[in-house]
Amino acid sequence: MLRRILLYLSAAKWARRIVMRWGIARSVARRFIAGETINDALNASQALNDQGLLVSLDYLGESVESADDTRGVVNTYATLIDLIHQRGLKAGVSLKLTHLGLDIGEELCTLNLRTILTNAKARGVPVTIDMESTHYTEKTLQIFRTMRHEYDFDNLGTVIQAYLYRTADDMRALAEEGATIRLCKGAYLEPPTLAFPEKADVDKNYIDVMRAFLSAPPPAYLQLATHDEHIIQVGADMIQQKKLHDRAEFQMLYGIRTSRQLELARAGFPVRVYVPFGEAWYPYFMRRLAERPANLWFFVKSFFGS
Ligand SMILES: Cc1cc2nc3c(=O)[nH]c(=O)nc-3n(C[C@H](O)[C@H](O)[C@H](O)COP(=O)(O)OP(=O)(O)OC[C@H]3O[C@@H](n4cnc5c(N)ncnc54)[C@H](O)[C@@H]3O)c2cc1C
Repeated sequence: MLRRILLYLSAAKWARRIVMRWGIARSVARRFIAGETINDALNASQALNDQGLLVSLDYLGESVESADDTRGVVNTYATLIDLIHQRGLKAGVSLKLTHLGLDIGEELCTLNLRTILTNAKARGVPVTIDMESTHYTEKTLQIFRTMRHEYDFDNLGTVIQAYLYRTADDMRALAEEGATIRLCKGAYLEPPTLAFPEKADVDKNYIDVMRAFLSAPPPAYLQLATHDEHIIQVGADMIQQKKLHDRAEFQMLYGIRTSRQLELARAGFPVRVYVPFGEAWYPYFMRRLAERPANLWFFVKSFFGS
């Protein structure tokens, strides 16, 4: 119930206006984001690289409402990609299609995406399209496939959410296509007609599709995006037994299970940290609160302690 309320609030503009005014919310959110500027993001990436961790940088934002706003987003990604290249960082970028204008028009969104992908490909920077709510699943996969197969952007991957009933079929098809896929549990509020309502079913589905995808031939590449210890162990065993170190990596979010990230990297597994930055931290922050009640408790305690 609490998860559902927080996920509802994550998309509510009135709640965003209130929460973003609280200084305390900003300082609690800092636990999950690298900062508000490109420099903050690059410094965090360098520090993670120095510890043997790979990075995917996400310029926070979603659901922009004007074409003008998307120009700023594309420019920020262009600068980011140039600086990743110049500084020799082991980093890619993650982006959301609604941040590039998908709600305004598909043509605008794909034009923006192609501009970013062209720049990233020329500089050897990998790009991942994040997956948003089920309202966008089909469209996201369609745009992903067009970019890969028609425009030949082999530096592009996308995300599949284990909580959806359709996921086993999607993963089967994407494995055959040799896609790079980040597999996560799913972070949005979805109806029981589309997504498993029980966590145990989501976890089981994650493991089933992970096993099947890891058995697919190259170039299929799997990014196991989870902090779930049981799933990490099942994945690590399979990667080790089948010697899949160049076919799979672990991914975790900035500020979550940091010591486990380092442990896995030291054990020889590729580990990538998803590093969000920017001023539009509200929906991302609320989704992190929804995932773990202890985070909410920490927030409430800080609020009353301030
Ligand atoms: C790299 C990465 C990229 C992602 N991209 C997307 C995306 O594109 N689309 C999408 O829908 N979702 C995305 N997610 C979020 C994902 O769907 C889950 O909501 C989130 O990862 C929590 O699920 P879990 O697998 O960690 O397992 P859970 O069962 O939620 O958590 C397992 C354990 O991990 C720890 N943990 C999990 N979340 C937190 C937290 N917020 N704070 C502190 N500890 C925590 C706790 O110890 C918890 O017991 C992404 C996640 C990662 C790691």
